[in-house]
Amino acid sequence: MQTMRPEPMPPIEGLTPYQPGKPIEELARELGLDPRRIVKLASNENPLGPSPKAMAAITQGWAEIARYPDGNGFALKQKLAAKLSVKMAQITLGNGSNDVLDLIARVFLGPGRSAVFAEHAFAVYPIATQAVGARARVAPAHDGSCGPRFGHDLEAMLAQVADDTAVVFIANPNNPTGTWVSREALWGFLKAVPGRVIVVVDEAYCEYVEAEDYPNALAWLEEFPNLIVTRTFSKAYGLAGLRVGYAVSSPEVAELLNRVRQPFNVNRLALLAAEAALDDEAHLEASRVLNRAGLAQLAEGFRALGLDFIPSLGNFIAVDVGREAGPVFAALLKKGVIVRPVANYGLPNHLRVSVGTPEENARFLAALEEVLAGA
Ligand code: PMP
Repeated sequence: MQTMRPEPMPPIEGLTPYQPGKPIEELARELGLDPRRIVKLASNENPLGPSPKAMAAITQGWAEIARYPDGNGFALKQKLAAKLSVKMAQITLGNGSNDVLDLIARVFLGPGRSAVFAEHAFAVYPIATQAVGARARVAPAHDGSCGPRFGHDLEAMLAQVADDTAVVFIANPNNPTGTWVSREALWGFLKAVPGRVIVVVDEAYCEYVEAEDYPNALAWLEEFPNLIVTRTFSKAYGLAGLRVGYAVSSPEVAELLNRVRQPFNVNRLALLAAEAALDDEAHLEASRVLNRAGLAQLAEGFRALGLDFIPSLGNFIAVDVGREAGPVFAALLKKGVIVRPVANYGLPNHLRVSVGTPEENARFLAALEEVLAGA
């Protein structure tokens, strides 16, 4: 009889998987609820859904799915390059931007190297770092005295950069805090960090951002060959279910990422939908307008309940429920409302809620009021 169990590589032994937002179907199954009565504000998805142009492209492309996609994503890269004023050779497509973050870790990190990121930063950074056997160096977040509370403190991050540091991850804005780093702070950081260190600026939510001091990191790619900007079609473009994101970098870095990329990492329908989505500025603008109103609606609701929240530039907002948030999350589930507990991000009293339609936001606020009142 075999007694030995299969042994993972050492870094995998202590790895905790990413905890996604609870799927609607799962809660419906567990509570015997009608899925149509469930409100999910847990994964920063676009409540408007994708552009109708993307939907039409998927419908048309459907007939060809027996064929592999274009492994180089020529048409999408061409369109992105024109839109972003970069060369096609600077773009790496991913199965979501998560895939690109993984590629970066596989190319630049491993045993004997470290990655720097901030306290409360997006959970994929520690996972991608640990999975390849690299060490995480975590910089404390701003305490509120000289920068947005809970936000990345770039000076503290710079102080964490050591001889073994190969990658720095900066989420701008960050998930789950919604906090951002200013143009001046990011510029200063890029100037100060050694050129051998890859700086990833993760702009998953950039299309939503409305802040004067928000940097256009793409404009700095020429000056900093160690800079990688990552973006996604999952958020403002409403294509989370299809999985498509990208990195923009120097052509040399893109060539390195391409060495470890799966040959057909972005599927045929995702490529078509992303391409079509880029043509629909009106849908993007409608998504921004809805988000702006939703952030205001949620902020107002939180103020009315006497709750503190973290000002956010994303399509989500983290609210301090004034007590351990886990039981509040669980009570909301029973009312058919899914949000996201963020204790695993070092924020045990916060819940992160994605901006939904006005009706969804209102339903969440009403349920939260009832739960906090003990109903
Ligand atoms: N970066 C940040 C900051 C995110 O919040 C997310 C999604 N949760 C991602 C990257 C990855 O998104 P996707 O893989 O869908 O592009």
